[in-house]
Amino acid sequence: MKIGIVGCAGRVGRMLVRTVLETDGTDLAGGSEKPGSDVLGQDPGVLAGWDITGHAVSADSQALFEASDAIIDFTLPGAAIGHADLAATTGTALIIGTTGLGPDQQAALDAASQKTVIIQAANFSLGINVLLGLTKQVAGILGDDFDIEIVEMHHRHKVDAPSGTALALGHAAAAGRRVDLTARAQKVRDGHTGERRPGDIGFATLRGGDVVGEHTVMFAGSLERIELTHKADDRGIFARGAVRAALWSVDQPPGLYGMDDVLGLG
Ligand code: NAD
Repeated sequence: MKIGIVGCAGRVGRMLVRTVLETDGTDLAGGSEKPGSDVLGQDPGVLAGWDITGHAVSADSQALFEASDAIIDFTLPGAAIGHADLAATTGTALIIGTTGLGPDQQAALDAASQKTVIIQAANFSLGINVLLGLTKQVAGILGDDFDIEIVEMHHRHKVDAPSGTALALGHAAAAGRRVDLTARAQKVRDGHTGERRPGDIGFATLRGGDVVGEHTVMFAGSLERIELTHKADDRGIFARGAVRAALWSVDQPPGLYGMDDVLGLG
């Protein structure tokens, strides 16, 4: 399977290039970067600390889509939407890890998924996908007597908050309680906030250093507390999950899929 990596010089992008080169059954179709990037023309394999691949990083995403069976995108929301349009017109499968999409951008992605296979996940690691299932289950068992707070920490370069994964965990908790997260989310607290509203799902965002990604879902009762935590030590877990999703995309009908479909978690 030929896999192209858009944003191939990014933190996850370089890991994706290595993973495609290391995985049996996958070939690197090439890599793209944003116009004007100073890595254009360089070898994506060398950039990823691997080996010479004979490819040159290009700003021509269209050519990369045409040369690929699947494209993996860990870039920025604006770029990802352009890539979804290209996926729809070329019929290439798109694996999208980019987070922070606004409602209009998500709607554009949903529309593109009528024409081709799109697999979207706020987090491609196996562990987080298990945590999503556990969060839904525990929220359903405990009910409103336990306050739910989601705490996340990421490196200082992250541009969106709360993280896409924290929001996905919030949606999982809301689904467990059979409520809508939009009506219950408390994303910011500052100043004289008054008491905690019963039933809220709170978020706290920490940023610093080079932390790859840490998420804790707390269920705080009056005399006891449950904390479910996942810590990502290496971006390789996202890259491996995304390449696994690309391999799974073969022969699937057009549609918008999640990592739960890929892993068969229902
Ligand atoms: P990064 O800034 O290191 O990498 C993004 C890369 O995309 C950069 O190299 C940038 O130049 C490139 N880019 C931007 N516009 C482009 C365009 N039009 N065409 C081609 N390339 C373009 O960021 P990162 O830490 O690798 O994270 C990227 C995204 O992935 C973020 O949204 C982050 O939240 C998300 N992420 C998702 C998961 C997951 O499992 N779903 C895990 C980690 C990070």
